[in-house]
Amino acid sequence: MAKKIFKPLKASEKINKILKNHYLKAKYLPTLGKFFGYKTAWITSGAPVELLRAFGIEPVYPENYGAICGARKVSPSLCQVAENRGYSLDLCSYAKSNLGSIWNPKESPFNGLPRPDLLVVCNNICGTVLKWYETLSREFNIPLFIIDTPFITGEPQPWQIQYVAKQIEKLAIELEKFFRKKLDLNRLEKVILLANETVDLWKGIRNFAKNKPSPVNVTDLFINLGPMVVLRGTEVARDFYEEVYREVEERYKAGVPAVEGEKYRLVWDNIPIWYGLYRFYGYFAERGAVFVTDSYTGGWAVNIKKGPPFYALAETYAGVFLNRDLEFRKNQLQSFIEEFSADGFVMHSNRSCKAYSFVQEEIRRQIMRSLGVPGLIVDADMTDSRLYSEETVLNRVQAFLESL
Ligand code: SF4
Repeated sequence: MAKKIFKPLKASEKINKILKNHYLKAKYLPTLGKFFGYKTAWITSGAPVELLRAFGIEPVYPENYGAICGARKVSPSLCQVAENRGYSLDLCSYAKSNLGSIWNPKESPFNGLPRPDLLVVCNNICGTVLKWYETLSREFNIPLFIIDTPFITGEPQPWQIQYVAKQIEKLAIELEKFFRKKLDLNRLEKVILLANETVDLWKGIRNFAKNKPSPVNVTDLFINLGPMVVLRGTEVARDFYEEVYREVEERYKAGVPAVEGEKYRLVWDNIPIWYGLYRFYGYFAERGAVFVTDSYTGGWAVNIKKGPPFYALAETYAGVFLNRDLEFRKNQLQSFIEEFSADGFVMHSNRSCKAYSFVQEEIRRQIMRSLGVPGLIVDADMTDSRLYSEETVLNRVQAFLESL
């Protein structure tokens, strides 16, 4: 078994407490805050959460919960619960972990997620979320708000942004009716400002990995991503990343490597293998391979642009990585390899996430041809370890590292 030879950041010790507080707040807000009109919403990772926070809604992310189920290795049994009700083995394991946790809360982290009052879905990450949230809407008998984003080929066009901005504006009107109160635009601007301050810190933390040796491994990014997603636009998240930033900066100044004896620098593509945080990524670290950056956590390193808030939110959320064409994704990976001086890249062909995985082989071929940098594809699933063959995967990794 791989030794834990990468050192987790000390700041990570706070994550559990931060997430627990968040879930507790989401659980009790609807009751305690009843008289103030507070509510809990379940929301997809690509939806404009800043608007919800401006209304005082506590957003809860079933996808983040799926990642927790994966890291705690309970996804296979929760997915099985959903499969017993007829959901296919091939569906997204975040969706099935979430549905399984509703139908079997006793065996789920935190006994399942706090019950939502409303649902907000944005199809900028995939089409699966629409069907998943329709099921949730039926299950809880609560309203579902949908934001539809056109797929962006080439550069985003003004009409596409306008189309999304109109829907965000409409969502604000619907929420005003739902809450019987006006949207506080000053509050929205404050939330956007906080979100941007947090994004700047996240970018700074990621950029330290451009140095040799890198003071950050991608596992640091994976482990510390939670507050960035679930507490975006809050002081709690901003303060947490200030601390992470300071710690990484200290490591950098003291020349402390994230991986002892850094020999190879790699780029990671796709959602992590959550149940392999130590065994899988530790296998690389033991051989002196550090993942200096990745496309997944990079999705949260994007600022909300300046300008009228609905338009700015539309521009940011319509332009997310998973809503872009092959050319955009190839260029981004290519620039990561160049800017972070990587020797190779590893792509996780993720059985759950077709939106992420379908174009990988073509991107791999094009990058290998243009940069002459080797790329490996490994087959797995982000949370469902039933779809992962460790021996086969690690044999391929070993051969890949030997070829570098
Ligand atoms: S299919 Fe992919 S993008 Fe869609 S919810 Fe699952 S992991 Fe996320």
